[in-house]
Amino acid sequence: MATVVLVTGGTGLVGRAIEHIINTEPENSRFGRKSNETWIFTGSSHADLRDPEQTRKLFEKFNPTHVIHLAALVGGLYKNMKYKLRFLRDNIHINDNVLHTSYLTNVTKVVSCLSTCVFPDKVTYPLDERKIHAGPPHESNFGYAYAKRLVDVQNHAYKAEFGCNFTSAIPTNIFGPNDNFDLDDSHVIPGLIHKCYLAKKNNTPFVVSGTGKPLRQFIYSYDLAKLFIWVLREYDDVEPVTLCVGENEEVTIREVADAIVKSMGFQGEYLFDATLSDGQFRKPASNEKLLKLIGGFEFTPFDQALDSTVKWFINYYDEARTGMTG
Ligand code: NAP
Ligand code: GDP
Repeated sequence: MATVVLVTGGTGLVGRAIEHIINTEPENSRFGRKSNETWIFTGSSHADLRDPEQTRKLFEKFNPTHVIHLAALVGGLYKNMKYKLRFLRDNIHINDNVLHTSYLTNVTKVVSCLSTCVFPDKVTYPLDERKIHAGPPHESNFGYAYAKRLVDVQNHAYKAEFGCNFTSAIPTNIFGPNDNFDLDDSHVIPGLIHKCYLAKKNNTPFVVSGTGKPLRQFIYSYDLAKLFIWVLREYDDVEPVTLCVGENEEVTIREVADAIVKSMGFQGEYLFDATLSDGQFRKPASNEKLLKLIGGFEFTPFDQALDSTVKWFINYYDEARTGMTG
């Protein structure tokens, strides 16, 4: 049977990584494109998914049998702190339109993307799939967190009432080529890569926000892309599955900044602005369920993936999403 996979958010960091993997892995690989598959990658210029009518028209146009739902209002700590209501409302609308239109058009399977940001702040570590609703999220991003948690609630309700095969995946912090490298609103790795690049170019200090002490567990977008393809094809449970490296592979923000400095070959002044928020101190997640189900997966080592991302940014600076105009 012909399979049409619609990837919402297909023009973003994760969407472009899935497109890269599906176009470059051999057909006989677990992650390669199958001969009966058509993959469609859409962004906000195809349809504003906050709008039900535009969402309906998008589905009418492509008639998907499967959906990987990545589209979201996304941003780093400081953007989440500024726009809590917008993160809540935009994401609620996007998710509700995508899930309900998928139901109405008989989509066979939907995999939506959550995040480890959505977990409770006060919780026993490591995070795992059963703890999503076990307490309030961190105050800094509660708008985004509650909107994303509702996807899991909706998935269960669509299954209970209509038997839909809707599920979700929970990645930790992601980075890679085609990220959003905006200086103020991006996540830490793309933000710091861009800041270090400018510090080197302009001979100015490289300033890292916060104390550098918080810990994060990063996944390379190309690794995550393979895991999403696996979830789409091989994981059929409504309960979410966490997609991440091992919980013992957290790195401090200082280690991230050190690795960027090294990759960029930056030799100037480098400091921390401790007046800025550190956000959540840590949020390590377990990949035990993932590894048990997938039966082994080779993750790209962090330093190697970071170096590739820095090189990508330098090579593609003119076309990267930098938030700079002109
Ligand atoms: P991204 O690079 O910012 O891309 C966001 C994507 O969503 C883009 O394709 C964008 O389209 C689309 N989009 C945004 N608003 C839209 C709207 N109103 N209508 C239609 N499309 C819209 O984000 P990403 O990092 O790839 O994130 C993908 C998924 O991973 C999201 O669900 C996010 O919550 C989740 N996630 C991300 C991280 C991370 O560290 N980046 C961590 C955990 C989970 P245009 O670009 O065409 O406007
Ligand atoms: P979070 O994991 O959702 O908090 O997302 P981020 O990717 O925004 O990471 C935030 C952590 O990185 C906090 O501890 C920040 O203090 C630290 N950080 C250091 N420099 C930057 C920066 O330039 N941008 C961002 N977003 N965070 C930074």
